[in-house]
This record gives sequence, C-alpha cells and structure tokens, in this order.
Amino acid sequence: MEKKRKIIHIDMDAFYASIEMRDNPKWRDKPLVIARDPRHSGGKGVVATANYIARSYGVHSAMAAAEALEKCPDAVFKTPDFPKYRKISAEIHTIFHEYTDIVEPIAFDEAYLDVTVNKKNIVDPVVLAHKLQWELFEKTHLTSSAGVSYNKFLAKLASDYHKPIGLTVVHQADVSDFLLPLPIEKFRGVGKKTVLKMHALNIYTGADLIKKSEAELIANFGKIGYFFYQCVRGIDERPVEWQRERKSIGNERTYDQVLTTIEEVDDFLNWAAKKLAGTLQERKLHGKTLVIKVRNSDFETITKRLTQNDFFKNDTEILVYYGKQLFEQIQSTNINVRLLGLTMTGLAPMADEDKQLSLWG
Ligand SMILES: [Mg+2]
Repeated sequence: MEKKRKIIHIDMDAFYASIEMRDNPKWRDKPLVIARDPRHSGGKGVVATANYIARSYGVHSAMAAAEALEKCPDAVFKTPDFPKYRKISAEIHTIFHEYTDIVEPIAFDEAYLDVTVNKKNIVDPVVLAHKLQWELFEKTHLTSSAGVSYNKFLAKLASDYHKPIGLTVVHQADVSDFLLPLPIEKFRGVGKKTVLKMHALNIYTGADLIKKSEAELIANFGKIGYFFYQCVRGIDERPVEWQRERKSIGNERTYDQVLTTIEEVDDFLNWAAKKLAGTLQERKLHGKTLVIKVRNSDFETITKRLTQNDFFKNDTEILVYYGKQLFEQIQSTNINVRLLGLTMTGLAPMADEDKQLSLWG
C-alpha cells in the first residue's frame, strides 16, 4: 500500500523569460524569446524559453530561434544570461530549504519537496504550497506553479495542470478523475517512440491504458510496462532524492558549443572514464554505481545510473562501455548536449581482505 506522503512539485513560470521581464519592464507586454537573435547569429540558436505572449504564437522551448522568428516576427530576442538565472535559482532553493531539506532539484526552476514532515510544522500541504509560492513571489517577484499530491508522478502532473500561477491538488480519491482522461503522452516515460507504440495498441488516454493487463504491458514495453501499469493507478513509490551523491568521484564538462554527434560524446566518455579509473585506482577505491549526467541546451538535466552487484573494474574501456549505454538511454537520436558528467558512487575501499591480512600480520 502507498504510504501517505506529502509531495510538492514546484515549477517556476517561464523562468528565464519572467526574470528578464522583471528586470526589463519595457518587455513586459511584448512577446519575449530567450535565445540568441537569429538575425545576428546566422540563423543559429535554440529557444531556451519564451514568455506566455510569445507562446501564444506557437513559440516553445527547444525550437530553433529562426523558426520562432518566423512564427512571431515582432518577438524580442534576448540572449540567455545563465549566470544570472543560476543565481536566482540558488535564491529559490534557499527558500525551499526553509521548508524542508528533502528537496530534489530537477532543473534551475523546478524541484520536488517532501513536506510530510517540514520545518514550518504545517500539516496541510496545500497551505504550505500556497505559503511557499507567496514567499517565492515576495522575495523574487517571480511566479510559480505548484502541484500537491502523495507521489512525485502526480505532483508533477498537477503543477503542469494550471499554469501560470497554479496550485493544483490531486487527492487519492481523485486519481481516476485526473488520470483517466489524460492523453497518454502526459504519462511519465512516454516519449515520442513510446507514444507511437501506445497508439498502435489503441491506447490514447489513461482510460485506455488502465484496461490493459500487467502482462500485456510488460510484453509490449518490457520493464517499463510495469511502471505504466502502476502509474495509471496512481502508484509511484520513488522517494524524493535529496542526497543524491553521498560519496562519489567523477568529472563533468560544460560545452559552449552544444555537442550534436555521438563521436563527440565518445570523446568525453574516453576522457572522463580514463580520469575516473585513474583517480579510483589511485585512491584504492571502487564503486558499484555508475552515473551519467546530461544537460541539454534547454538546461534540462537528466541523470541515469547503473548499479551492479559487483564492483565495477577501474578499467577505462569498461567504464566507457557502460557510460555509453547509459547515455543512449537519455539521448539515442537528436544529440543535444551542453554538459556531460560521469561519476562513480557506492564507493568502498578496494581489497578489504588484504588490509585485514596486514592487520593480522
Ligand atoms: Mg518552469
């Protein structure tokens, strides 16, 4: 049975664009696109985000800036100022931590909070979410949307339900009303490829999905089929991961020029794996969990991890091999990388037996 947790997903509204509108009042009633102006960049550049006026013209994040200009010729283009956004992101996270330390950051402007027990001793998570949104606004003059529920999947769907300045609650009793009419592409883990497969199986909404048996979903989708089976029933036991990396060693690299080929990713993996294997060997450590971190040009960060029963060998080739497998789980086509990281966690000293022997010796 699902334990009754209180989870909030907070998502700032059009974060980068809202910051720029806050700081430049002249842009407040104009369509604003956060991207390099394609007229000055030889048509290059990708939309990081757009304000709601620009969105009404069909502009959205990850769209080519040139296409955004076509859709909205009057748009103001503002080159992103990531150092500024990072600073404001830190301010927001400081406010989160006044409520709870169980905060899992998902992006600059997005986080899960587990407020089952919280520093303000507020019992009702809706009251807490409202207070938090108000405080975020008072301190940063930026608006946010919140989703409140008893797991991460539902909280995230809820925060997206009424944007901007939304506060949506999904109670256990309302799960069916909420999930059954939902288009299948809104379900977690349903990407572009999976959506086609779902449609081929005549699954267009939650109501179609819930009719499928567990066995049928697993037969069609593998392990993740079980996940879909649970999701549509409002079950998601994932904890809010607030202490991701307890003990870890790794390296990351940020790229000014976004990587677009698998060869460039291979170059990183070879460099990072060699360094990682070397450092682990030097410190006489080995680990059981390999983690890859990928951030795209839209500043979305995704990590994937692989945990083995036995320790990974501190061997460059092996780490490259598994690193690549993890990477392909995140981006198999349309490579778009601004930052890459390769980390080993679940560390332990090597050759315990040897140490004990020398102890006795
Ligand atoms: Mg947002």
